[in-house]
Amino acid sequence: MLRSRFLWKLYAGYALLIVVAVGTVGGILAYRLQAAAQEDLRAALRARAALLGELARPALEGEEPAAELQARLGTLGRTLATRLTVIAADGTVVADSDQDPARMDNHAGRPEIQAARAHGAGEARRFSTSLGRSMLFHALPVARGGEVVGFVRTSLPLSPVNPRLAHLRGAIGLGGLASAVLALLLGLWLARRLSGPLARVTAAAEAMAAGDSVRRVPVEADDEVGQLARVLNRMADGARSQMQTIQRDRNQVLAILAGMAEGVVAVDVAERIVHLNEAAAVILRARRQGATGRRVREITRVREVSEALAAALHQGEEVSREIRLPGTSPEQVVRLHAAPLKGEGDLSTGAVAVLHDITELRRLEDVRRDFVANVSHELKTPLTAIGAMVETLLDDPEMERDTRQRFMERIRDQAARLSAMVQDLLSLSRLESSEQPLRREPVELGGLVETLAASLRPEAERRGLSLEVATGDAPLSVYGDPEALRQLAANLLDNALKYTPSGGRVTVRAGRDGGGVTLEVQDTGPGIELQHQERIFERFYRVDRGRSREVGGTGLGLSIVKHVARAHGGAVAVRSAPGQGSTFTVRLPLEGAGGGRGGD
Ligand code: ADP
Repeated sequence: MLRSRFLWKLYAGYALLIVVAVGTVGGILAYRLQAAAQEDLRAALRARAALLGELARPALEGEEPAAELQARLGTLGRTLATRLTVIAADGTVVADSDQDPARMDNHAGRPEIQAARAHGAGEARRFSTSLGRSMLFHALPVARGGEVVGFVRTSLPLSPVNPRLAHLRGAIGLGGLASAVLALLLGLWLARRLSGPLARVTAAAEAMAAGDSVRRVPVEADDEVGQLARVLNRMADGARSQMQTIQRDRNQVLAILAGMAEGVVAVDVAERIVHLNEAAAVILRARRQGATGRRVREITRVREVSEALAAALHQGEEVSREIRLPGTSPEQVVRLHAAPLKGEGDLSTGAVAVLHDITELRRLEDVRRDFVANVSHELKTPLTAIGAMVETLLDDPEMERDTRQRFMERIRDQAARLSAMVQDLLSLSRLESSEQPLRREPVELGGLVETLAASLRPEAERRGLSLEVATGDAPLSVYGDPEALRQLAANLLDNALKYTPSGGRVTVRAGRDGGGVTLEVQDTGPGIELQHQERIFERFYRVDRGRSREVGGTGLGLSIVKHVARAHGGAVAVRSAPGQGSTFTVRLPLEGAGGGRGGD
């Protein structure tokens, strides 16, 4: 606290006041004392001169011999410790208590004598060379009947007075010093008492200003300092709650930005990054760490983002474009939207870019376009065939009965194909539709497969194929849509029977596999080349288009299998090699534990 500048400022003023006051009082006192002492001295000299006048009168009037007066003056002067001089009217010294009058010069010119002659009394202060000290002289005229007969003079050295004065001055000085020291000490104590609370308020306020949000100013009294402390505390409370609000809002914004699927990059007026969220870092293949404060082009190879931000910043316009990210496979497409950030007074404070990865959107658009083209193409073929055959029938009413019959049968087959295709398309759309959710109920897969196989066995036998089913004894309950699961098994079995040549064998196995259920359809058919194995699950993909048509395929069967498996939280896979048959395996969770809808 002794380092407090306020304390020393306060104290310096106070100390100066004390020193000046004590000095002034001491000075006045010393001066007054000296003046009083000199006045006393003068009064004594005056009284003694008056007495001496009476004593010297006989000698001055010639009634007493001068030698007698001289003898008396010697004794009297010693007794009074005063120099006594008697001077004749012409200035001749008649008698003197300290010196021999014969050796003294004429005193008519002495200022005190001249003044006494002129004004009736004279006083002078002079340094006496004969006595070697400062003397005060007082002279009075002695008159008889209006005529001056001589003068008497008394004188005292000023020095005998000085020790007394010096003593008094010393006492005054000591007293002044003591009281000054006391007052200074008292002042220090007072100044510390005053500045102490202020120093504590300052220290606490400094800590609060430096960010200590918990520290508060101590309220020690109800005076102005206490009020100041209270006001400061209220301000700190207000600032703290404002800070908390700002912090909470900021955290909310950061959480929102972090949780956004869209990438967000914000830059300041100098085009330096102020925020880059995780999604933006992923899209731009940049590292978030250390990105703040750097330029966008320093952290990513995607030039368009920094260009769009610069355009938004400098032209104040919104920029929207679609960009393709270099070096991505499959090529990633991003919709980029950059806009300027305006602060107070419409001043530009930076720019923000939002990046929306639309690769999947574009892919789905492509899939949809291909699908529509495929559907149109697939429907067109049987419709054209039907149209042509009906035309022929109409053109030739004389047609032979057998030929007409064949035409009719082909029209029926084409119509059946169309119907099957529309059926499959409806199944697919039902699987993809969110409006018609799949049913969820326990389905015994073993029983389902057995029933299905039993219904297909006559057809298998007709084609010269053996159909074996092995489902074991364990219950194979899955949680799902019985109709969709039946369709899944039917499509796999149907394919196996369709593509396996006569004399072949189709085996269906169902069993437990870890935490799930496995349905396996194995055939001894032509097998599928590796390059086709992934693609056969796509819509309308067929290894051999002609063969598929021949056997009444739509190209949608395996696509439906894949969708149903996914919708039940499972998956389908194929194991095959040309000439060695194919094995399709579907894995489903035992109790159909969730699973979302699938897409191609
Ligand atoms: P399709 O209606 O043409 O059978 P799918 O989607 O069911 O359509 O099958 C797609 C293609 O996969 C078929 O055209 C066929 O070439 C091939 N495929 C499917 N199952 C088998 C199988 N068991 N053996 C050989 N090829 C098969």
